[in-house]
Amino acid sequence: MNDQLRSMVERWRELADHPAVAAFFAEARVRIAEVVRAQRPICLASGACCNFEKFGHRMYVSGLEAAFVVARIDAARRVRAANPLRVLDVEAARGRGDCPYLVTNANDPASRAFCGEHEERPLGCRIFYCDRGADGRGSEWQSDLYEAMHREVIVLHETVGAPYLYLEWREALAAVAGAARDAPPA
Ligand code: SF4
Repeated sequence: MNDQLRSMVERWRELADHPAVAAFFAEARVRIAEVVRAQRPICLASGACCNFEKFGHRMYVSGLEAAFVVARIDAARRVRAANPLRVLDVEAARGRGDCPYLVTNANDPASRAFCGEHEERPLGCRIFYCDRGADGRGSEWQSDLYEAMHREVIVLHETVGAPYLYLEWREALAAVAGAARDAPPA
């Protein structure tokens, strides 16, 4: 990681527990859930949305959102006595073409896959569904909602003084996990 990215990640990590950041994402999650409830896309737990290379899909997050999500998931994992996200988990996920938070079961004949951190998943994961609906227009509401949310995320970065960067999901996770690993003990 170069020095410029490292200093950005440190700032995102500092701001991850800022009350305005937590309030923004809490409210955004509720608003997204309301739209999803109204649109009623079907999820068959195929894991398609989280198998990026296989599905031909990329997910992006802002640096601040990545730091916020990882901090929340790591905190939840501490409560469960589970490991925080590690760089090697992210590298393994990249090798498979999926997400380090994806949970699969090799013995499941239906090959279902689940988000292991459903409660804290990022906004993009809450909006993206592979179900395009009976009229095939399911991607339109998703794009509109995503773009609206993303504009608000940019404003959030400005409001709290976070440097802005838009990163591919695993790239963002590797940066945040790498900075956490390198940080001096609290
Ligand atoms: S965070 Fe969860 S929903 Fe999002 S890509 Fe990873 S496994 Fe899938």
